[in-house]
Amino acid sequence: MSTRIQRDKEKKQQEEFQAILRRLLLEEDNKYCADCDAKGPRWASWNIGVFLCIRCAGIHRNLGVHISKVKSVNLDTWTEKQTLSIESLGNRSCRRVYEADLPSSFRRPQTDSYPFAELGTVS
Ligand SMILES: [Zn+2]
Repeated sequence: MSTRIQRDKEKKQQEEFQAILRRLLLEEDNKYCADCDAKGPRWASWNIGVFLCIRCAGIHRNLGVHISKVKSVNLDTWTEKQTLSIESLGNRSCRRVYEADLPSSFRRPQTDSYPFAELGTVS
């Protein structure tokens, strides 16, 4: 009986986290991949706090989990810590921090380009 209650509780909690994530994805800045502006990101780096397209999620994953912890928004199970982390950050505030000192010549990589190919991180 208690395991069932526990299971129900966890299920309910997951639904709450999913609802938070869905709501976050409706925010204007989160409707596009933080790295390449691709529409409708469905992946996220919860420690950095950004929503990403599948390709940029792959690039983040290649960086290693000590730098970026990538999850699927709707296919993975989220913990409270992870959900709160991305809720408190998001694409807008992360761009403000990570892209604060970009040179004016910076061009955001586009969805179909391989911006890191020359660094050897994408094969
Ligand atoms: Zn992207």
